[in-house]
Amino acid sequence: MNPMDHLTSFLQSLWQPMEELFFPSVCLHCQEHLLQPADLPALCEACFQSLKPISSEVLQHNVLHRLNPCYIDDIYTAFQFNDVVQSLIHAIKYQQMPNLGRKVGKYVATLLVSQISLHPEDKIIPVPLHSTRKREREYNQSLEIARGLFEQQLNQIDIEILIRERYTLSQTRLTREERRINVENAFRVTRPSQVSGKRFLLIDDVITTGSTMNECARVLKSHGATHITAISIAAPVRAD
Ligand SMILES: [Zn+2]
Repeated sequence: MNPMDHLTSFLQSLWQPMEELFFPSVCLHCQEHLLQPADLPALCEACFQSLKPISSEVLQHNVLHRLNPCYIDDIYTAFQFNDVVQSLIHAIKYQQMPNLGRKVGKYVATLLVSQISLHPEDKIIPVPLHSTRKREREYNQSLEIARGLFEQQLNQIDIEILIRERYTLSQTRLTREERRINVENAFRVTRPSQVSGKRFLLIDDVITTGSTMNECARVLKSHGATHITAISIAAPVRAD
C-alpha cells in the first residue's frame, strides 16, 4: 500500500466512528443495521412503518376534551405514541442528538404542513426547560424539534418570552391530577406587552395529558394571547 492509500484508509477508519456519532448506523429502536437512509433517520423500515398517524378528532377527544378548563385552541400531532416513538424521543432527549430532533421536526413538518396555519406575526414557543435541566441536557429538545418544523420561519421562534421558573418533577410517573398540580405556576411570561393580542404555537416532544401545554397556554392567555396551537411529535391513543 502506498503512503497515500495508508492515509486514506486511516482517515476512513477515523470517519466511520465519527459518522456514527452523528448518525447511528443501527436502528434506534430494534438495533437492526441501517442499509439505506429511511424517511425518518435512525429508524429501520419496519420500525418506521410501525408509526401511525393520529387524527385531529382523536386528539380533540383524548386531550382537549379532558382538560378542564382547556386553554388550547388547536392541536396537531404526527404519530400515535408507541415503543418506537418512545425510543426516538428518548434518543432526542437523553442521548445528545439535537440533530436528530431537528430531522424529526423536519419530517413531521411534511406531515402537518397542510393543516397548520402560521401567520407572519405568530410566535413559535418551544416548551421551555428549567435552566437547571437545560444545563444537565445542554439543549432543549423542543427547540430542536421547532427548528426542524419551522425551518423557513426561524425568526418566529421565541425562546425568551416564556420561561420555566419553577423546577418540576418529570411528569412520566404522575397521574393526570398530579401532572396538573406539578406544572401549576411553573411558567412565567417575561414580556407581557408582546403577548397581548397575539397568537402562539407551542411545541413539545410528546403531549400526554396536555397539562404542560395547557399551563403554558393558560399563562399566555392570562396576558391576553388570543389563540394557542399545540404541536407535538406524538400523543398516546386511549381506547376509552
Ligand atoms: Zn428498527
